[in-house]
Amino acid sequence: MSHVFHRNLTQRYPMAVKGEGPYLIDSQGKRYLDASGGAAVSCLGHSDADVIEAVRHQIGQVAYAHTSFFTTEPMEALADHLIARAPEGLESVYFVSGGSEAIEAALKLARQYFIEIGQPERKHLIARRQSYHGNTLGALATGGNEWRRRQFEPLLINVSHVSPCYAYRGLRPGETLEGYAIRLAAELEEEIQRLGPENVMAFVAEPVVGATLGAVTAVPDYFTRVREICDRHGILMILDEVMCGMGRTGTLFAAEQEGVTADLITVAKGLGAGYQPIGATLVSRRIHEAIANGSGFFQHGHTYIGHATACAAALAVQHAIEDRHLLPQVTRLGESLHERLVERFGSHPHIGDIRGRGMFRGIELVEDRDSKQPFDPELKLHARIKKAAMGHGLMCYPMGGTLDGRSGDHILLAPPFILEEPHLDELTDKLDHAIRDAL
Ligand code: PLP
Repeated sequence: MSHVFHRNLTQRYPMAVKGEGPYLIDSQGKRYLDASGGAAVSCLGHSDADVIEAVRHQIGQVAYAHTSFFTTEPMEALADHLIARAPEGLESVYFVSGGSEAIEAALKLARQYFIEIGQPERKHLIARRQSYHGNTLGALATGGNEWRRRQFEPLLINVSHVSPCYAYRGLRPGETLEGYAIRLAAELEEEIQRLGPENVMAFVAEPVVGATLGAVTAVPDYFTRVREICDRHGILMILDEVMCGMGRTGTLFAAEQEGVTADLITVAKGLGAGYQPIGATLVSRRIHEAIANGSGFFQHGHTYIGHATACAAALAVQHAIEDRHLLPQVTRLGESLHERLVERFGSHPHIGDIRGRGMFRGIELVEDRDSKQPFDPELKLHARIKKAAMGHGLMCYPMGGTLDGRSGDHILLAPPFILEEPHLDELTDKLDHAIRDAL
C-alpha cells in the first residue's frame, strides 16, 4: 500500500522512472508520448541536458538564499530576461513557486496598489465563468469552474463572474464575431456599473482558456475592448498566462497576439518547464512605483519565493527557447498538429470543435454535432479517454464539461515544443484509438 495521499485515491498510478525528450517511461519500460506536457508544463520535453547542467551548477553555488536576506544572480538575470521580452509597461517580476501563488500575488498586489494610491474602497474582482486560476482559496474564488469550487464555496471571497469569450457556444445565430465581442464587453461594463466602478479592483482572464474549456481563443478585439473598459474605469487588468504563456501559443506572452498589455501577468508552468517548481507575477511600472514610493513594502511572501535553483532552471529553459528558435517552431508545428486533427476528426460524429493556437490545441466532444449537446457528465467520458490514452502510451489532458451542460468534455493537447513531425502522427493515431475505446 502507498502512503502517498495520491490525487485520486481510487486509482493506481504507473511509476515514472525516466524522461527522454517527449516521452516518459514507466517502471515496466512502457513509453508514453507526453502530448499534454503533463498539465502544459514540459515545454522542453524531459531530461534536457542544458537545463540539468544549469540546475547542477546552481545547486553547487548557492541552492537557496532567503529573499529577506539576499538577492541572487539567477533571480536577477531571470527578471531581466522576462522584462526585456514582456509587453510594454511591465517593469518588475515577483517570483513564486507555481501558478496559484502567482495569482494570489497578483490579487494582493492589486489590492495593495489601490490602498497605496488612496482608493481603499476598490476591492471587488470580476472574472469569467468556466475559468480556472488555481486551487488556493483566493485563486479558486477567482475561477469560475463550478465543479472545482462547489464544496469549498463557503470559504471563498465574493467574485463576480461574467461570460467567457467562447464563440463555439456563445455566438448567437446570425451574430458576427464583432457583435459578439461588443456584447461581451457590454456585459462586463454592466457588471462594473452594478458594482459601482469605484469599488472594482481588477478584471482577471486567461488570454487563451486552458484547463476548463480546452484551448479557447478570444474573438478579435475582445481583449482590446476589455482593456479600454478597464482603463476608462481605473480597473486593473490581470492576465493569467500560467498555462497559455511562455511560448505555448507561439509568442512568449499570449497577450502579444491580442494586441494588449496588462497591469499584471501571471506565468508558471512553461516558465520552468517542470525542471523546478516556479511561477511569477509580472508587475506594471505604475503598480511597482506606487508601492515603491508609498509604503515601500509588499505585504506578502512565501519561504521559497525567488528560489535560486528554480530561477536558474527557468533561465536555462528560457535561453533554450530563444537559442533554439523554438517559438517559430511552436507556430509551425502547431499548425501541422491542427491540420492532422482536422483531417482525422473533422467529420467525426462526436467531435464538435477543434481549436487553439500554437502548441495549445483542444477538441470538444459532443453527443450531437448539430445541436452541440454535450455528453452526460455521469458518463465521465473525459476520464475514460485519459485512461484509454494511457493504455495506448499517450498522455493527454481531458476534462469534463460544466455541470449544467454549458460546455462539453474536451481534450487539451499541450505537447513539448521539441516534437518532430512523426511524433504528430503518433499523437493523432494514439488519440484516435483512445477516443474509439472510450466512446
Ligand atoms: N492559472 C491557470 C490558467 C492554470 O491553468 C493553472 C493550473 O492549471 C493555475 C492558474 C494554477 O497553477 P498551479 O497548479 O501551478 O498552482
